[in-house]
Amino acid sequence: MNLIQATIITIGDELLIGQVIDTNSAFIAQALFKIGIPVNSRIAVGDNKKDIINALDTASQKSKIIILTGGLGPTADDITKPLLNEYFGGKMVVHQPSLDHITYIFETIHKRPMIERNRKQAEVPDVCEVLFNEKGTAPGMLFKKEGVYYFSLPGVPHEMRWLTENQVIPVIQKSFTTNFIAHKTLLTAGIGESFLAEHIAHFEKALPANIKLAYLPNIGMVRLRLTGSGQDEKVLAKEVNAQFEALKEAVKEYLVTDADETMEIVVANLLKQRKQTVSTAESCTGGYIGHLLSKNAGSSQFYTGGIISYDNRIKTEFLDVPTEILLTVGAVSKEAVEQMALAVRKKMNTDYAISVSGIMGPSGQTDEKPLGMVWVGVASKEKVVSKVFYLRFDRLRNIEVTANQAINLLRLLIINKI
Ligand code: ATP
Repeated sequence: MNLIQATIITIGDELLIGQVIDTNSAFIAQALFKIGIPVNSRIAVGDNKKDIINALDTASQKSKIIILTGGLGPTADDITKPLLNEYFGGKMVVHQPSLDHITYIFETIHKRPMIERNRKQAEVPDVCEVLFNEKGTAPGMLFKKEGVYYFSLPGVPHEMRWLTENQVIPVIQKSFTTNFIAHKTLLTAGIGESFLAEHIAHFEKALPANIKLAYLPNIGMVRLRLTGSGQDEKVLAKEVNAQFEALKEAVKEYLVTDADETMEIVVANLLKQRKQTVSTAESCTGGYIGHLLSKNAGSSQFYTGGIISYDNRIKTEFLDVPTEILLTVGAVSKEAVEQMALAVRKKMNTDYAISVSGIMGPSGQTDEKPLGMVWVGVASKEKVVSKVFYLRFDRLRNIEVTANQAINLLRLLIINKI
């Protein structure tokens, strides 16, 4: 059994009032998870000496690895460093490489003189090992006491990330025996989490004890992740791969990708491989589908552009949706989205088109058309297909789910599944 566990302590009043979301501990937890170190708790404390000491005392009872972030800066509320100095009984000394680095940052990058406050950042307790911080002025620190490793990192996320990856994780891997961890992730669409769980209950039940299945539902899709842990890396990889193949088989009707990638990347790859293009006509998503299709590098190979036909006048003038349709069945209808998809595909001369029109909330519903009702259309040179969805989230989430469902519908059209 792996007895090495970790506790993450994030420090800062701003975390407690919710002004800053604690993304640091999520990042560190993921980095530890990847190397097989379980995190038993994540503690957020304010800039308060007593609370930080309590957190350290509690953490050291159950963890061999304690990682702190925050409170290393040059201001008065940054109390972590003097506190750790006292806690571990050290005295402050100048760390010359850090001083040189801070001097370099001020003289060469900021081009302004250093003040005493900044010089102080190069002072560290003489009882720690310095974790050189290439990305900033506050050095990271490692204290060791009674077999427990205490890592103290700055709160600034990009500095914390660099130190975690380049300093903390290598030290942990060198100093502790850890299990190997292997992950495999796939993405499904078109089935809800509970139905999916029913569908693969037999598979989940038969999994060996060292391999776990996680359901990660998000924006109308469910990601499934297998995580295995074991002492022998090669044996583990073989075990996880075999289970993953069985899982893929079990969900084959719903499988979008067996790689850890998003729906829009899957569709982008399909289009790029086939040297095909797509355009969009968006009403209720206001350009969000266009954003998803164009946010990754290389999108110009397959995404030509879109018309945001939010107002009905734009649907008529730019997408030739007949006024009659708008007056009879309305803009949120099969007829409207199909015409929008056909028109934009033709105008933009693309292989495919996506269109959407719906009621995203919080108001705008009618007796026949409830909140969250959305029509999605996709067209190719040969056909046009549309589908209605009834969403139950708030406005922004409805927009995200619509966009993902629309891109998925395009995927199904491309691969001839609809
Ligand atoms: P530096 O010495 O570089 O100023 P620091 O250790 O003093 O770093 P803090 O002053 O605690 O760090 O925080 C710096 C910034 O980093 C804060 O403005 C906050 O936005 C962000 N930050 C701090 N802690 C976290 C956290 N746990 N998750 C996300 N962001 C954080």
